[in-house]
This record gives sequence, structure tokens and C-alpha cells, in this order.
Amino acid sequence: MRVSDVTASGVASGGAGAGEVASAFRELYGSEPDGVWAAPGRVNLIGEYTDFNEGFVMPLALPHRALAAVSRRTDGVLRLHSADIGGPVVELRVDELEPRSGAGWAAYPAGVVWALRASGHEVTGADIHLTSTVPTGAGLSSSAALEVATALALRDLYELPLSMAELAELSQQAENSFVGVPCGIMDQTASACCTEGHVLHLDARDLTQHQIPFDLPAHGLRLLVVDTRVKHALGDGAYAERRAGCERGARELGVRTLREVSPAQLPDALRELSSPTVRDYVRHVVSDNERVARVAALLAAGEVREVGPVLTEGHASLRDDLRVSCAELDAAVETAVSAGALGARMTGGGFGGSAIVLVEAELAEVVEKALTSAFALAGWAAPRVFEATPSAGARRVT
Ligand code: ADP
Ligand code: MG
Repeated sequence: MRVSDVTASGVASGGAGAGEVASAFRELYGSEPDGVWAAPGRVNLIGEYTDFNEGFVMPLALPHRALAAVSRRTDGVLRLHSADIGGPVVELRVDELEPRSGAGWAAYPAGVVWALRASGHEVTGADIHLTSTVPTGAGLSSSAALEVATALALRDLYELPLSMAELAELSQQAENSFVGVPCGIMDQTASACCTEGHVLHLDARDLTQHQIPFDLPAHGLRLLVVDTRVKHALGDGAYAERRAGCERGARELGVRTLREVSPAQLPDALRELSSPTVRDYVRHVVSDNERVARVAALLAAGEVREVGPVLTEGHASLRDDLRVSCAELDAAVETAVSAGALGARMTGGGFGGSAIVLVEAELAEVVEKALTSAFALAGWAAPRVFEATPSAGARRVT
């Protein structure tokens, strides 16, 4: 099957349209929604586990997105429903929302209501029905898509004076404090602020953003996403352990965050650290921040093919120093590169999820076939391969 066929069928980015989501809302709640909002998933081109170290990241939004049909309420009731989960409507009261109360999927949109209210914004209830084409647990930020779609809808309906970047921060607070996942700021910012045809160069320290043109077809290239179908579970403690290790490294080095350590200072810094594990984590973070700078420079110079080897280098660092890869991600990267890709790496939190592959357009099919064969030979489920087209960030649809 060709990559384009897979894009059209396997992980269709289209899914239900705004009209369908609105009519499902009507059936569920018995009235028209006030509007429909969309927020995308993302892949990260380079800069992994760097955001919570106040470093640099470079995500792009996917065409896959969450759609939320929403109406405001004035009686303090919050009703939530996902077409993808099914089951009964979850009914909560906005003044009784409790962080980490284990509300399952509903904690993501409920957490956004909680975060808005906790920062002083008057949100007096909502009816929400949502659906998403972002594969869940695949490292593509289905959680951020839900949060940002909810946050944007509530901002518009309650006329809150919040920028897209501020909505991203509130969505992150929802995930950190309400759901209980210690993620950085990348996923929510990508979903809120990415623009079509660009990667987003984000400085996670001061949150400055630069949109960098990323027109792969103009260079005869494609960026593929390979979903290994191995579900990651960021909540399982491994992510938090890496985060704690990085924080310990910064403490031992006497800096606020690992962002303060430059590549030139790295050899000395490594000598100062007592734990071999922390040393490896620090090496990853400092070197991946440098890789983001290198990719930004290559893109600015139009040397897009040269980005490939930097991705593969980043994968080696995630595999060997941070140790957040897995057999399927390593196989995807090795197979893609052996089959002629320019470069590849795992993307997102790792331990499963997805890899990205930068490839000459005419080799995309060959690489995809090689991936399918390699996974079959290993006895693994077939990976889902689709193209990452840099897409728009969150917006109101109707
Ligand atoms: P990722 O963000 O990488 O996909 P996470 O573990 O951060 O993985 O978030 C996945 C969780 O987000 C799911 O387990 C579910 O609770 C929630 N979620 C994502 N998409 C949907 C959806 N369409 N409907 C309901 N819940 C969803
Ligand atoms: Mg997530």
C-alpha cells in the first residue's frame, strides 16, 4: 500500500466534519452547539525532553485534530462526552472539580475548566461533545488536542482575554496539576500556535516563537510518521524519572535549568556530575538543544536534506543517553535509514508511540514497504505510516 493510500484510509486525518460533530451534539444534548472548535495533534521534528529544561523544541501540527462542539451554561454544570469513548455523558459541577480525582479521559477537558477557574476566569459551565482523529497514546499529543480545543472554545464563549500562548499554558496546567502528567509546554503550544506550512521554533524559557517555513514538497521530500502501535504510558513514572534526573543535574551544576549549560561547557559539566545516569541525561539535553539550533540554521539555509542525519543523531541520544526508546522505535529508525531515508528518530515521549522519517519523495514507498516487512518479520503488528503535512493550529471552525 502506498503512503498516500494509508494517509487516506489507515489514519485518516479528516474524520467527522464540524457538521457531524454539531449534529451529534444536538442529538446528545437536545440543542444546537454555540460553535465548533478544532485543535491538532503534533509531531516534534527535533528537541525532545528539552522543554521542561527550558530548552528548545521544533514541532509541527498534524492534519489530525480534535473537534469540540461546545455550548456555554450558566448553572455551574459541566457535561462532557467523547464520540470516540462512547458511554454516558459525564456530568460534573465546575465548583466541585478536584485535581487528580481520576476522571479518566474526562479529566483532560475538565482540567481545562479547572485551570481557567483557578486562574480567576469566570467559567460557569459548558456542554461539550468531542471527537478526534489524533491516534491516542501514539506520541502525537491527542491529550493536548483535547485540552486546547476545549480551552479555545471556552475562551471564545466566555470572551476571556487570553492569547493562544496563554491558552497553551493553561492547558499544560490542566494536564500537570489536574490530570497529573508532568508534561512540558511543547505539546499544548504546538496545538495552539503552529501554522500551516511551518515548524514552530519555540524557546521554552521565555516562550518566544518563530515560525520557520517547512515546505518539503518544494524540496522533493516527505516527512513520514510511523506509529509503531506500541502504546506509551507517560504516566508510568519513566517520564517523571527523567525529569527528576535532569533537575538533579541542574542542581548539582548550580544552574536553574539545563538550558544554562552550553555545548562548550558540556565536557566540564559532565566531569562535575556524580551519577552516571544523570550525566547521560545531561548529555542528551544539552546536545539536543544544540541539534535544534543546527536544524533551525539548516532550514534557514534551505539545506533541508542535511536535517536527516541530525534526526538520526537525536535518536541515538534518546536511545543511548536518555534511554526512552524501545525495540520497535529503534527498528523503525534503523529500517528506514537502511532503506534509504535521509534520517529518522523517535518523536514525543518514547517507550512506544511514533517515529518520524525524512525521505526523498520517490523513496517513501520503498521505505514504507521496508518498515512493514521488518515489523512483520519481528512478529509485530503492522505500523501505521502516514505523511506529516505541517498544518494549522487550533481555531474556531463554525
Ligand atoms: P498522547 O497525548 O500522546 O496521545 P496521552 O497519554 O498524553 O497520549 O493522552 C491520551 C489520553 O487522552 C487518552 O488515554 C484519553 O484519556 C485522552 N484522549 C485522547 N483522545 C481522546 C478522545 N478522542 N476522546 C476521549 N479521550 C481522549
Ligand atoms: Mg499527551
